[in-house]
Amino acid sequence: MTKDNIISLPNKNLRQKSKTVTKITPTILKVIDDMTKATISWDTSREHEVGVALAAVQINELTRVIIVRQDYENKKDLTFIPFINPEITKLDGDIIEDFEGCLSVPDIYGKVPRYDKVKVKAINIDGKEFEITAKGFMARIFQHEIDHTEGMVFIDRIKDRQESFYRLNKDGKLERLDYEEVKKNTVLW
Ligand SMILES: [Zn+2]
Repeated sequence: MTKDNIISLPNKNLRQKSKTVTKITPTILKVIDDMTKATISWDTSREHEVGVALAAVQINELTRVIIVRQDYENKKDLTFIPFINPEITKLDGDIIEDFEGCLSVPDIYGKVPRYDKVKVKAINIDGKEFEITAKGFMARIFQHEIDHTEGMVFIDRIKDRQESFYRLNKDGKLERLDYEEVKKNTVLW
């Protein structure tokens, strides 16, 4: 599995809800392995970006699984932690606007409001339930990925915000996009 297996808009599956995992089967473990390989392949191909996390729907598997990078600040650390049936149990702290991108929304970035703190409950590959608390950028990642399991893409959260759409130019800098152009873009909506 490589980055070429990652689906992107306008693929309709990105706006479908994923199914709950009822049993950890070899198929689920294979999905997790494929997701990890696809993210690493994408990460290796991008100079200015880091593949931080992925939801199963992004490799066209409508299954409630996400993987999150153990240390997103270290491009050399390729360890990803799987969260099966992830669920936000608490949203807390301030709502903060910051930039987000998505492997399934090529080249577009958005300033998305998200809670600063979350509690997430999930099961691990042994079928054991666990809960973690995340803050700041990690809290943002969980909200973004869990949105994917609900069939929501980050641009759906900012669709009415005229000043929230950006693109990455070839020097790796973010430039504001013309909202009228964004609105007319049939790939996105
Ligand atoms: Zn995404």
